[in-house]
Amino acid sequence: MTASRSARERKAAAEAGPLAKVKIEVDEQDQLVYKVSCTECVARGSKAWSAYRPGGDNGYLAAMDRWTFHLHEKHPDAEAPCLAYLAAAQQRLHERREQG
Ligand SMILES: [Zn+2]
Repeated sequence: MTASRSARERKAAAEAGPLAKVKIEVDEQDQLVYKVSCTECVARGSKAWSAYRPGGDNGYLAAMDRWTFHLHEKHPDAEAPCLAYLAAAQQRLHERREQG
């Protein structure tokens, strides 16, 4: 469990790029909780931005989508592998809104 969690953490951190700080925790229901926070927004002294999403792969996707939007909106010059999926993330957001 611990090994796969740190492997997931490394994978997510690599995807999220250098501005992100990724942490995976386990909640009371034994679910993985993905937390992605922005090191640059923390450094500026403003309220730390972070995405916090429970759930295995769904949580990963949801947290990563939120992070991708944050990067795109607040740090347009930043580079991160996850930005390659911006269009897919926007599509997923759109689909969630249609369903909601
Ligand atoms: Zn930020």
